[in-house]
Amino acid sequence: MEPLSQVSEEKQEIQKQEIDATVYLNFMKSHCCYDVIPTSCKLVIFDTTLQVKKAFFALVANGLRAAPLWDSKLQKFVGMLTITDFINILHCYYKSPMVQMYGLESHRIETWRDVYLKYPNHLLVSISPDASLFDAIYSLLRHKIHRLPIIDPESGNVLHILTHKRILKFLHLFGKKLPRPVFLQRQIQELGIGTFRNIATVQQTATLYDALSIFVERRVSALPVVDEQGRVVALYSRFDVINLAAQKIYNNLDMSMREAIHRRSCYVEGVIKCHADETLETIIDRIVKAEVHRLVLVDKADVVKGIVSLSDLLQAMVLTPAGIDALVS
Ligand code: ADP
Ligand code: ADP
Ligand code: AMP
Repeated sequence: MEPLSQVSEEKQEIQKQEIDATVYLNFMKSHCCYDVIPTSCKLVIFDTTLQVKKAFFALVANGLRAAPLWDSKLQKFVGMLTITDFINILHCYYKSPMVQMYGLESHRIETWRDVYLKYPNHLLVSISPDASLFDAIYSLLRHKIHRLPIIDPESGNVLHILTHKRILKFLHLFGKKLPRPVFLQRQIQELGIGTFRNIATVQQTATLYDALSIFVERRVSALPVVDEQGRVVALYSRFDVINLAAQKIYNNLDMSMREAIHRRSCYVEGVIKCHADETLETIIDRIVKAEVHRLVLVDKADVVKGIVSLSDLLQAMVLTPAGIDALVS
C-alpha cells in the first residue's frame, strides 16, 4: 500500500490541475459582454443602400475595421461589412489594371449582398450585453467571425463590436488576481496550441491578387510572406488590404507582394514571431503587448512552422476546458 502522505499529495495535485484547467473558463463565465465595453468608442453604421465603395472609404476615414449594416426597409441590422467583404469584392470583380471594376464602382451594399450571399441563412450574429464572455468566445469561434456586435435587446442599438483582441486584453488586465495555472509555464509545442500543418503562406514574388485568392479560398486571417526557402519576411493580414482603399490603389492587384508590403502606410514593424519551445505565458504577453491577432511560429532558421492565433489561445484556455472544440470545420 502507498503511504498516506503520498496519496494525499497525488490527490492535491489532481485537484490543483482541475482548478487550473477551469480558471479562465470560470472567469469568462462570470463576466458579461457589458464588462468589456469601453467607456467611449467610435461606431459607424451603414445603411445597406450605401455604395460599397463609399462604405470602404468611410471605414478608412474613420479608422475602423468593420461596421454593422442597417436595412431601413426591414428596420433591423442584417449583417456586418468587414475588410473580408472588401477582399471578396476585389477578388470577384478584378480583371486587370486597365479595366475598371464595375461591381466595386457601382454596387450598393444590398446589391453586393444579393450577389455574394446566395444563401439566405446568412444572418447577423450578435450578442446581448448580459451574455457571458464565454458565450461571446463560443460565438466568435463557432461562426469563424472576428466581429461580434453587442446589441441591446431593449433598444436594438449596437453598443460595441467585440473582438478576440478585446477579450484577451480584458483577461490579461483583470485576470492578474486569478490563481496562475501551471500550464502557463508549459511550452506551446507540449500544449499543442496553434496550427502546425498546412499553413497558408504567400511568396514575396507572388502577386497581390494571388494573396487575395488565398484569403478567399483558405479563409485565413493572415498570410506569412515567405522567401524561396520558406523563411518569413513579412506578415500580410486581411487588415492590410484596407490600405488599397486608403491609397486608392485597388485597381492594381498585379503588383508583387514585395511591393504591396512596402506600400502599406499603417502596419506593424517586423514580424511578431514565436518558437515552439516558448511558454504559453510568454506567448500571451507578447501577443497582447504587440496588439496583433496572431504570432508566426518559426524554427531557428525563421522557416514558418505554424500560426498561434487569438482564436487558438481562447479555444485552449476557455473552450477546451469546457469540453468544446469550436475550431473544427
Ligand atoms: P475580418 O477578419 O475581415 O474583420 P470577419 O472574419 O469577421 O472579417 O468576417 C468574415 C465574413 O463574415 C464577412 O463576410 C463578414 O461580413 C461576415 N461577418 C463578420 N461578422 C459577422 C457577424 N457578426 N454576423 C454575420 N456575419 C458576419
Ligand atoms: P485586426 O486588428 O483586424 O485583427 P491584425 O492583427 O490582423 O488586425 O492586423 C493589424 C496589423 O498588424 C496589420 O498591419 C498586420 O499586418 C499586423 N500584424 C498582425 N499580426 C502580425 C504579426 N504576427 N507580425 C507582424 N505584423 C502583424
Ligand atoms: P484566426 O482566423 O486567425 O482567428 O484563426 C482561426 C484558425 O485558423 C486558427 O486555428 C489559426 O491557427 C488558423 N490560421 C490562421 N492563419 C492561418 C494560416 N495562414 N494558415 C493556416 N492556418 C491559419
